[in-house]
Amino acid sequence: MPSGDRIKTIVAYAHESYSEHEGGQVADYIPQLANADPSMFGITVADASGGLYSAGDADVEFSIQSISKAFVYALVGEALGHNVVREHIGVNNTGLSFNSVMAIELNEGHPMNPMVNAGAIATTSFMPGDTPAEQWENIRTGMSRFAGRSIELDGAVYRSEIANNQRNKALAGLLESYHQITGNPMDAVDVYTRQCSLLVTTRDLAVMGATLAAGGINPVTGKRVISADVCRDTLAVLASTGLYERSGDWLFEVGLPAKSGVSGGIVAIAPGKGAIGTFSPLLDSAGNSIRGQQATAHLSRALGLNVFASNVDSARSNGDD
Ligand code: GLU
Repeated sequence: MPSGDRIKTIVAYAHESYSEHEGGQVADYIPQLANADPSMFGITVADASGGLYSAGDADVEFSIQSISKAFVYALVGEALGHNVVREHIGVNNTGLSFNSVMAIELNEGHPMNPMVNAGAIATTSFMPGDTPAEQWENIRTGMSRFAGRSIELDGAVYRSEIANNQRNKALAGLLESYHQITGNPMDAVDVYTRQCSLLVTTRDLAVMGATLAAGGINPVTGKRVISADVCRDTLAVLASTGLYERSGDWLFEVGLPAKSGVSGGIVAIAPGKGAIGTFSPLLDSAGNSIRGQQATAHLSRALGLNVFASNVDSARSNGDD
């Protein structure tokens, strides 16, 4: 990573460069998400030693949505181990949309991809806890350890989604018919919907991502959250699945494991170096934030983060595109 002053300048430049972009749409299939302010745009870069550099609406809270899948997957991976998560949940991109029923049918009931809804609901069902309430509390406290602060539920988003998530309930029922989910599938959907409704900022996303970049130790609190092995496994899954069916395009352009969510957040992780959290609710047709993708692509180049670039010195030094 460049020096702190340099990172600050590059982050400010990225924010300024993309803040005028107005294409895309706010998600509205969860009614409460349709109320998002499309002008919001925040960026935070966290380095692996806990330095934080922000621009724009970096302290505005939004529901984490699908980005929760990455961190719950890590918590479940810690509990179940490498082989069990691979066998029961899978590590491959389905190539289909985040709420696809067909993906389950085409794969004989196997969820395949923990970063889309079916695989994520199955993952949540494996979360340790004797009751759904205990599973939920273990998720909330586990994700709070990643963020380095206690993060809380947005009750309005949770209620809005739970009243309108017939499709997720159908996915869970279908997984049950194939014996690919553990416990009561509707309980799993409820806990999953709660995890998606946790409120975060781009600062939280950057710290959570930097914890994965730093081998499982939160660089701000200095406390271990998960093992280095689970970080490695989680980042491998994010590389192939983190931006829905556009994950290949993303890896080709940006070269970082990442996860996006339909409320407009993206977290991108540079192993050993740090992480980038962005928020802008205007989405492309796959559900990925447009300004978030543009800003992260720019930062990956300007900070020299692409994991496939063999010569990081070739990273642009002037912060230009
Ligand atoms: N809670 C959302 C859902 O299940 C998350 C979707 C997403 O961010 O991809 O539909």
